Amino acid sequence: MIFTPTREAALEKLDIFIEESLNNYSTKRNYDYGPENRSNTSCLSPYITHGVLSESEIIKKALNKYSYSKIEKFIQEVLWRTYWKGWLERRPTVWTSYVNDFNSLISKYKNDETYNKVINSESSIECMNDWVSELKETGYLHNHTRMIFASIWIFTLKLPWQLGAGLFLKYLFDGDPASNTLSWRWVGGIQTKGKHYIAQNWNIEKFTNGKYLNVELNESPECLVEEISHEPIEPVMINADFKLFKDLIIFENTLYPELIDFINENFKQITVIMSESSDDYDTISENLLNFKAKLIMNFLSKINKDISINILKIEQLQDFKDTNLCAIYPQIGKNLNYMKSKELDFNYLYKKIDIISNKYCKKGYFGFKKNINTILKAL
Ligand SMILES: Cc1cc2nc3c(=O)[nH]c(=O)nc-3n(C[C@H](O)[C@H](O)[C@H](O)COP(=O)(O)OP(=O)(O)OC[C@H]3O[C@@H](n4cnc5c(N)ncnc54)[C@H](O)[C@@H]3O)c2cc1C
Repeated sequence: MIFTPTREAALEKLDIFIEESLNNYSTKRNYDYGPENRSNTSCLSPYITHGVLSESEIIKKALNKYSYSKIEKFIQEVLWRTYWKGWLERRPTVWTSYVNDFNSLISKYKNDETYNKVINSESSIECMNDWVSELKETGYLHNHTRMIFASIWIFTLKLPWQLGAGLFLKYLFDGDPASNTLSWRWVGGIQTKGKHYIAQNWNIEKFTNGKYLNVELNESPECLVEEISHEPIEPVMINADFKLFKDLIIFENTLYPELIDFINENFKQITVIMSESSDDYDTISENLLNFKAKLIMNFLSKINKDISINILKIEQLQDFKDTNLCAIYPQIGKNLNYMKSKELDFNYLYKKIDIISNKYCKKGYFGFKKNINTILKAL
């Protein structure tokens, strides 16, 4: 499992996946054959999360090779991410309450024996130990394994889901506020209220290809219950008039390839916000920091030499308070949280797919799915 941190490597991975594996994706995707054998899914998520590959280019390339009906499942999965993102934009308090809960739980559980054993691969559950080690070493876990992991974490180990979600965000190369938070909530049964995902032995055995047998599981747990409700908002996603600005702010998750020509043609300066390790909730692993830094450098290597480049930590954005600036919208997450807390309000540019699809993210994925064709046509 190697994720080379360049757009060129991402494109090559995409091409190989389309040529060799997309054909069998719908029947093979649920199997976790281990980190040495990951060709049954695309493993593109670390690139998609950072914007290095766009959902629309992936879908367009895949549709160049196969008809929609042949690869419907893959297209739906790619758009799950877009859907989760849109759903969270409509309920920002889901993210802020996750962050607040995480911050108080992390001190409460600092010396908790079960928590410490599991995050150090020393629990009594072999598969969990292996998966924690794999997560730390590779920055990736298979989707089905993530579901089983979260289910064992919540229902068998009885640990708070927020701490599991935080562990994932610390190590996953594809760590994404919307996909991660909402998937953990979904496993626990608070995303689709009353429906939880229960890991079962037949399932673990089958989809790990017989690697893990007879795991000691709680196979009939109660759903989690959420006491508070999150009132939806109607997000305003209107693009700023970029021609009024000479400086553009981008973030580590907005390394969109289409921005390169756009920046080269329209701006004199760009400011890139880059994560640094810190002691608060968003602490991320050294491996992940390196991955992000290299992706940013790969992006910047394509910017014209006469454009000046600033690389800043999010805290340094405070120097821009009361300045009229243009930024690529970073989506709900730690950067936007910080900017809101400091009342930093920029003129945003949004990704086309997010503007088009957001109105379909009001309710469940079923409603969104019915509109996939409309979304694809609009792209
Ligand atoms: C508890 C839990 C936490 C998760 N956390 C994240 C996260 O932080 N970031 C993240 O990108 N995904 C997350 N996922 C979703 C999913 O596991 C990964 O997107 C997927 O494993 C990535 O591998 P792939 O690129 O080979 O996916 P493929 O199967 O090849 O799918 C192609 C693309 O579709 C999108 N996708 C596929 N499945 C999902 C899904 N269930 N939800 C949302 N998007 C999906 C991804 O962008 C993925 O790269 C999480 C799932 C669970 C159950």
